[in-house]
Amino acid sequence: AKELGQGRSAYYSAEVGVVTRERTRLLHGLQRAFDHERLFVVYQPQISLLSGQTIGVEALLRWRTEDGQFVPPDRFIPVAEQSGLIVAIGAWVLRTSLYALGQLRAGGAGDLRMAVNVSSVQLAQPQFLQIVDQALRDTGMPADCLELEITESVAVMGMERVATLLRDIKSRGIAVAIDDFGTGFSSLSYLDRLPADRLKIDRAFVMSLDSGRLGARIAEMIVPLGHQLGMKVLAEGVENETQASLLRDLGCDEAQGYLYAKPMPLEELGPWLAQRRG
Ligand code: C2E
Ligand code: CA
Ligand code: CA
Ligand code: CA
Repeated sequence: AKELGQGRSAYYSAEVGVVTRERTRLLHGLQRAFDHERLFVVYQPQISLLSGQTIGVEALLRWRTEDGQFVPPDRFIPVAEQSGLIVAIGAWVLRTSLYALGQLRAGGAGDLRMAVNVSSVQLAQPQFLQIVDQALRDTGMPADCLELEITESVAVMGMERVATLLRDIKSRGIAVAIDDFGTGFSSLSYLDRLPADRLKIDRAFVMSLDSGRLGARIAEMIVPLGHQLGMKVLAEGVENETQASLLRDLGCDEAQGYLYAKPMPLEELGPWLAQRRG
C-alpha cells in the first residue's frame, strides 16, 4: 500500500509539473504578444429586443500567435490574472476600446455604449479608478458611455469593499453589468448589495431556453429578478430567432449573440452599424 502511495504522489507531481510548464509557456507567449502589439480587441453588438436598435458593444480581447493560431481568452485570461499581467493588459483594453468608441461616434454611431470586461484582479488594485479615469481622459470619452462588466467572483474582495468601489464607479456616471449571472455561487445573497445597471444572463441558460429543461426555468426567473432590483436584463449567446422571441416574451430587455453579429474588428463594426441604421 505504501509503494502505491509513493507511486501515486510521483505521478501527481509530474502532472503538476506539466501544468506549470504549460502555464509558464503561455504566460511568456502572452507577455511577448502584448509587448509586440499582437493582441487586439473585437467588438460584439448588443441589441434592444424591443426596438431592435444597437445599444452598445462589448469589447473582447483576442490573441493571435505568430503562426496565426488563436488562443481563446478562456485559456489565457486566467494565466494573465494569476501573474498580474491582466492589470496592464486590462488598462490597454480599456484605452483601446474607448478610443475605438470615439472613432465610431465620429463616424455617426450615435451614443453607443462600450462594455469592457474587468477582472476581479483589476478591481482589487488600489489604482483601478485612476486607470479608468486616465483612459477616459486620454480618449476624451464621457464616463456615461462606459460600462464595466464584472462577475460574481468580485465577492473575493469582500462585499463591503466591492459595494464602496461600485458606488465610486457609479458616481462617475459609469455603468456596471454583472456578467455570467447564475454560474457562480451565492449570487442571490449579495445581488441586492451590488448597485449594478445590467444583469447578463449566461449563455448556458439561453441555450436551454427552448428545451424545457431546468436552465429554461432559470432564465425565466432571472428576468423578473433583475427587474425587481432595478436592472436591465441582457441575454448572452442568443443564436436563433426562437431564443430571441422566447426572451422577448419573458420581458428580457436586450440580447447579444451570433444571431445578430459575431464579435468583429473595428473596421467591420463601423460599416455593420451604418447598415443597421439603414
Ligand atoms: P464573456 O464576457 O462571457 O464573453 C462572451 C463570450 O461569448 C465571448 O467569448 C463571445 O465571443 C462569446 N459569444 C458571444 N455570442 C455568442 C453566441 O451566440 N454563441 C456562442 N457560442 N458564443 C458567443 P470570448 O470572446 O471567447 O471570451 C471568453 C471570455 O473571456 C469572456 O466571456 C470573458 O470572461 C473573457 N474576456 C474576453 N475579453 C476580456 C477582457 O478584455 N478582459 C477580461 N478580464 N476578460 C475578457
Ligand atoms: Ca462579458
Ligand atoms: Ca458573459
Ligand atoms: Ca463567460
